[in-house]
Parts: sequence; structure tokens; C-alpha cells
Amino acid sequence: MKFTKPVQCVHCGNTAPMKIVASYEVRGDEKGMNPNDPLSRWGETWRLIICAACNEISIGLLRWYDFLDIEDEFQMKIVYPVRNRTLTGLPVNIDRAYDAALKVRNIDSNAFAVLLGRVLDLVCLDKQATGNSLFERLNFLAARGDIPQQLADIAHQLRQLRNIGAHADLGELTSAEVPVLDGLCRAILEYVYKAPQLLQVAEQRLQQLKQDKPST
Ligand SMILES: [Zn+2]
Repeated sequence: MKFTKPVQCVHCGNTAPMKIVASYEVRGDEKGMNPNDPLSRWGETWRLIICAACNEISIGLLRWYDFLDIEDEFQMKIVYPVRNRTLTGLPVNIDRAYDAALKVRNIDSNAFAVLLGRVLDLVCLDKQATGNSLFERLNFLAARGDIPQQLADIAHQLRQLRNIGAHADLGELTSAEVPVLDGLCRAILEYVYKAPQLLQVAEQRLQQLKQDKPST
């Protein structure tokens, strides 16, 4: 059985060699290049690989050249699953907390909910929301106008799901809830952090355009 070099699993975040269960190779000349052209001596290898930690499948793509030693193979790129991480502008501690949550996303739905709840706690802390509970702090943010009431309602749903994830007697979350949890949390993070950042970029660009405009 063959293994890859150590690679980070997008599903669970574990870094280790992965078992290669299938490989498919396409050569440059098969892609229509002249076989006599030395530059055609390259190819792509698609690999179906399995993570030993979470048993989930990933697909790796490797580009190689005949004139390079196979040991020098270009680093394999994971093309599936797609890393679902396009949030920018998060404060460092919130970014880390969200990353920690994403690492358990596909392993334990309840733990995911609990860690997303922690992200909400940190957002409240960052925005200096006051209140004795997360419920009160979210309402505080809505009342002060940091987040619209609709978003506070979303946050309350996430908070309730977090409570179920944290307390076994309230029930159990399943993988079916994972996209819902992630969607709720992303909606909040995007509104609170990404939107203001985009607005700032747009304003700077507008200022730049005004300055660049030749005076009439
Ligand atoms: Zn894994």
C-alpha cells in the first residue's frame, strides 16, 4: 500500500501521510502535445487518498516532469474537498477560534456547535457587549445597532444549537445540522467583520479614483 507525503486533511485538519487507494495518470502527449517535444514529457497524476484519522476521501492532483526526479515531485494540491475558508478581516483570536471549530466540523457536530458558540462569545467580547449571558450580550449588540435584529435572531438560533451540542440531556446534533451551523456563524462573521472591511476597501478605491481624475 502506498502513502503520500505528509499532507493536511481538509476534513479534520490532521497532518500525516495518506493512503493512496487509486491513481490516474494523464501524460502531456495524451493532452494533444507533440510526443517528440521534450516539453510534452510531463503529466498529471490524480490520486484518491484516505485520511487515517477521519477515514474521509480527498483527491490530490500532482503535476510532474520527466526530467525531474520523482522525489522532487511538485507538491500535491488537494482539489477536493475545497477549503471553505474565504472569510477575511477577522481579528486574530476570532480567526483562530473559527479555524479550531472548522477542524472538528466533519468529526463531531456537537463539538463543532460548541466551538462556534465560543466564536460568538469572542465576537461579543470584541464588540464589548455587556450582559450576563450570551443571550443578553447578543441582544445588546442588536439594541446598540452593531448587528441588525435579524442577525441577532440568527445568532440566537446558533446559540440554541450550541446549547444542544454542549448538553447531552438536550439531545444530539448530527451531520445534517453542520451546514446550518456553519451558515449561521458565517453570516454573523461576514456582517460584523467582512462587510466593514469591504466597505473600507471600496471607499479607499473611490478616493483614489477621485484623486486620479484629471482636474478640469
Ligand atoms: Zn482527516
